[in-house]
Amino acid sequence: MSELSFDEWKKLSNKISFRNKAFINGKFVDSISKKTFQTINPSTEEIITTITECNDKDIDIAVKAARASYEKGHWSKMPPAERKAILLKLAELIRSNLEEFALLDSLDMGKLVQDAVTIDAPGSAMFFQWHAEAIDKMYDEIAPTGPGDLAMITREPLGVIGAVVPWNFPLDMATWKASAALAAGNSLVLKPAEQSPLSSLRLAELAIEAGIPEGVFNVVPGYGEVAGKALGLHPDVDCIAFTGSTAVGKLFQQYAGQSNMKQVWLETGGKSPNLIFADCNDLESAVNMSAFGIFFNQGEVCSANSRLLVERNIQEEFISRLTEKAKQTQPGNPLDPNSRMGAIVNEEQTQKIISYIAQGKKTADLVVGGERVLINNKGCFIQPTIFNNVNPSDAIAKEEIFGPILSVIPFDTEEEALTIANDSEYGLAASVWTDNLSRALRVSDNLNAGTVSVNTVDALSTVTPFGGVKQSGYGKDLSLHSFNKYTT
Ligand code: NAD
Repeated sequence: MSELSFDEWKKLSNKISFRNKAFINGKFVDSISKKTFQTINPSTEEIITTITECNDKDIDIAVKAARASYEKGHWSKMPPAERKAILLKLAELIRSNLEEFALLDSLDMGKLVQDAVTIDAPGSAMFFQWHAEAIDKMYDEIAPTGPGDLAMITREPLGVIGAVVPWNFPLDMATWKASAALAAGNSLVLKPAEQSPLSSLRLAELAIEAGIPEGVFNVVPGYGEVAGKALGLHPDVDCIAFTGSTAVGKLFQQYAGQSNMKQVWLETGGKSPNLIFADCNDLESAVNMSAFGIFFNQGEVCSANSRLLVERNIQEEFISRLTEKAKQTQPGNPLDPNSRMGAIVNEEQTQKIISYIAQGKKTADLVVGGERVLINNKGCFIQPTIFNNVNPSDAIAKEEIFGPILSVIPFDTEEEALTIANDSEYGLAASVWTDNLSRALRVSDNLNAGTVSVNTVDALSTVTPFGGVKQSGYGKDLSLHSFNKYTT
């Protein structure tokens, strides 16, 4: 765990150098158009650096490089144990640069550097390590044919994977795709979010240092409607692995239909319910984890527990304790280890959150927060906010806000809680708090969500698959199931 002080983080942030060009075929390059865009620190509103902006021509060059490297077979046909050794080296290189990775993400999108250095960056190393260690332990199959016949079922890489990722966990979302896709032997063209390209570019550079051959791991920064779309429409991309909004996920399905029917795997939005039953004995943990579930990473988490469903007879006590917790979770400078919440990714997202707060103020009881905050007269900071007695059909209970805004809905019966919880276009994650084992199993079974956590929130781990149902998408990241996306 990093023990750097606020001053030391500030000093480090002044010394750090930024990779700001596209990374294609093992080299940092300008785009053909020579265009660039700015990446901005949302806590200071200052420009961090200008970044190469890729368009369809650059995407084509990157896909050709990925295809050529794939066809050469120097990665795709490398013995698994050798690929494993290289990916393990990459994991070690990430571990040797934890503070740099943490700073890149914190400066780029406003998350707490302390979280980035203890959760995101070590997580990235662990995901590469885990997928690396898996690949020489997966066996193929021989089918049970009759005598004289031999049918082998082998798992092969798909070819060229296009990965398009969001800004909320820049390094980790890139890693979830890259670790499994590369371990399986594919070549990759990664498009980071335009708000947060810095850590992906550094990761690609370290991939070469680890020994991943040129052309296997390419990074093409640029805007979604240009670079993301070009990747989605490219006729020589075999698969798109996307994490982002439901609306853009649907566009990728269209791009596939308009081009080569490439496989499309979607991890999209969520409005995850967190069900608190009065028979939960450890309300203290329920309060603490419910706060974590909505305020961690400024609520910019796809599986954020943004709907709190609480049994009516404990509603008052629960919300009063949760309100105290919210008051202790105030935003501050993301580089200050004493800050409890960071900055919202940019002004546009801040305004979107503010407009949801304005809607909530009209129809629900605002119990805490609800205001924008400035730090040193600058920045995209929002107070942790709780709306009580929210009508389940209101926008703040239905739509993904992607900010530190909690909608509390009381219920009287288990059946009612399940009906409200499942009445959503999303189905990414859910949580249940109860000490009644039968209820825990029954409710988990009846919640329509990709993952259900019991007596905790968001029990995410490398060993369990993560992904949604309904309009939260399909296909799994993490665990051995993730290889199903990247192999045929
Ligand atoms: P977004 O959909 O706007 O952008 C995601 C990516 O798609 C970015 O790289 C962006 O450049 C690209 N993109 C945008 N418009 C595009 C277009 N027209 N064509 C092609 N590509 C395009 O999402 P965001 O605002 O970056 O991230 C927030 C969203 O991500 C939330 O909805 C959140 O729930 C979701 N998310 C989901 C998961 C998950 O695992 N399910 C994880 C993290 C975030």
